[in-house]
Amino acid sequence: MNETQYQMDLLKAMNRNLSVRDRMYRMICEVSGGAFLYFEAGKTEIVTIGDWSDYFDVDVADKRDLEKIYEIIDEPFVMQLRELMQLEKSGKESQVLECLTRKKNAWYRFQAKVSYDPRGNYVDKVIGIFNVTKYRLQAEELNYYSFYDVITGLYNRNYFIRLLGEVIQKAKNNGDTVSIMMIDVDDFHKINDGLGMVYGDEMIQQFGAFLKELCDESVFACHLNSDIYCVGIYDPKNKRTVDEIHDAITKRLSNPFLLSGNQVVSITVTIGVAAYPEAAETALDLINCAEIVTLKGKAMGRDSFVRFDQPILKEFMQTLELEAQLKEAVNKHHFELYYQPQYYCGNKKLRGMEALIRWHEAGRAPLSPALFIPLAEKNGEIIPIGNWVLEEAIRQYATWRALFRCHFVLSINISARQFNQDDFVEHLTDVLKKYGVDAYFIELEVTESILIEDFEPICEKLQRLQDMGIRISLDDFGTGFSSLSYLKKLPINTLKIDKSFIDTVLTDSATRIITESIIGMVKSLGFESVAEGVEMEQQYKYLHAIGCDVIQGYYFGKPMTVADIEKILRNQT
Ligand code: C2E
Ligand code: CA
Ligand code: CA
Repeated sequence: MNETQYQMDLLKAMNRNLSVRDRMYRMICEVSGGAFLYFEAGKTEIVTIGDWSDYFDVDVADKRDLEKIYEIIDEPFVMQLRELMQLEKSGKESQVLECLTRKKNAWYRFQAKVSYDPRGNYVDKVIGIFNVTKYRLQAEELNYYSFYDVITGLYNRNYFIRLLGEVIQKAKNNGDTVSIMMIDVDDFHKINDGLGMVYGDEMIQQFGAFLKELCDESVFACHLNSDIYCVGIYDPKNKRTVDEIHDAITKRLSNPFLLSGNQVVSITVTIGVAAYPEAAETALDLINCAEIVTLKGKAMGRDSFVRFDQPILKEFMQTLELEAQLKEAVNKHHFELYYQPQYYCGNKKLRGMEALIRWHEAGRAPLSPALFIPLAEKNGEIIPIGNWVLEEAIRQYATWRALFRCHFVLSINISARQFNQDDFVEHLTDVLKKYGVDAYFIELEVTESILIEDFEPICEKLQRLQDMGIRISLDDFGTGFSSLSYLKKLPINTLKIDKSFIDTVLTDSATRIITESIIGMVKSLGFESVAEGVEMEQQYKYLHAIGCDVIQGYYFGKPMTVADIEKILRNQT
């Protein structure tokens, strides 16, 4: 092989090696998602590796070309980028910097790596450049959602608690106060159920936007969860106050919200206010206190405004305790049924008995159901309690039937929640069958509260029960909506005139007019009328005179134990 041929072959081989290397670099760049600049000590030229034009639309072949990059990068980052590009001057080995472009449309990460010889002299360096726009946006978004709520754009719960904690600390140092207002939309489920969740969200978003307008450096607000917001106020100068914000909210809510599709919605809210240091010392405790007073407000009805005070807290703690005891009583069956007799007016014959529950706790007098039944209705314990009452009353009735051959009506109170259970009718049928009691002897006392839900399905259920032979009694009549128009449509047998009418019937002429018209109407509809809470002979005589059918009350007999009732039954036979 001659010299020329050898050199040509060598050159070819080198070229081939070079292109392999080139391809290798290119692939590494592709995999790493970056482009690289290579600098050698003492040389001004720059070797670019990877598809540089994907990054910047400029040629970089010489150190002077770096200026073109600085022109693309946003001003505040340029100085730091210059330092990074000349990292060998600092003697450092590596550095990373993320820069925004001047057009603010992209982020680049510059990563420098410098190598030195054993004596510390600069040898060469590589600057890697990566487009990190996507990650920056994701991180910003994540950051946003760690502070803000998706629907309203207000602060989210966690950030609000943090902020409130900081503000309380500040107030502690300066001897100031911090107030929070919990704002709970009344009957929000009706909007959600009635119009759909999309409108529900829109409503929440619009009210949130309104609260945002009230915010400044002294007032901050969050969307706590579903239909609840919380506003924090820390203004040592007392320019921003709870009352001022309350007024603004009241004014806003006097006008409806206009949702998409021209849907118009009006809302009311319940507001609970608690302040540091009066109510609590920490953010979480303060929020809990505000929640307690909001619950109190809800219990008082819609559209209420309640400020925290110690009696409310005490009452809440007692309710909690009662709730815990009630749960235990349910598990341990600490209940007993008393029975109160009902008599026909005129012949004073026994018409029926109303089963009334009593809660016995060792060492204390039986607790009135007026105290614990509403609580049980709220927390759902009414279902096991109601089922127990139903079975126990029917079991007792079966025993009395066997012992005394009695045939009076047994009235059992059924709460709305119990009545609305899907399997209520089936359960009742099973119990009747189990004890062999005829449905004709059983009367269910329901109140108008069962009618809050859809009228038609409730009527159908009542009708099914009536078809079985069960009597239906409308309890506490006169205390609910008392709409006479729906009475005609309701499948009922008996109407119980509430004790509040009987209480004043002798002294108040208006009550007399109402009572007489109720009894007249009951007669014309073919129902039976029962007056409850009759305590005096004059009341009885008056009720008898105006045509009331049945009397129940202390005048004839208080609710009694089984043993006392058996004395009555024994005398009857
Ligand atoms: P209610 O169904 O209206 O029962 C009548 C209440 O009036 C009973 O109170 C009874 O003891 C009382 N009462 C009857 N006659 C007189 C009277 O002449 N004077 C006075 N001052 N009171 C009289 P109680 O037993 O405390 O029950 C209160 C409420 O608790 C009941 O009102 C009923 O709503 C509920 N309740 C009682 N037992 C049950 C039950 O087993 N299940 C359900 N769901 N509720 C029950
Ligand atoms: Ca009753
Ligand atoms: Ca009643």
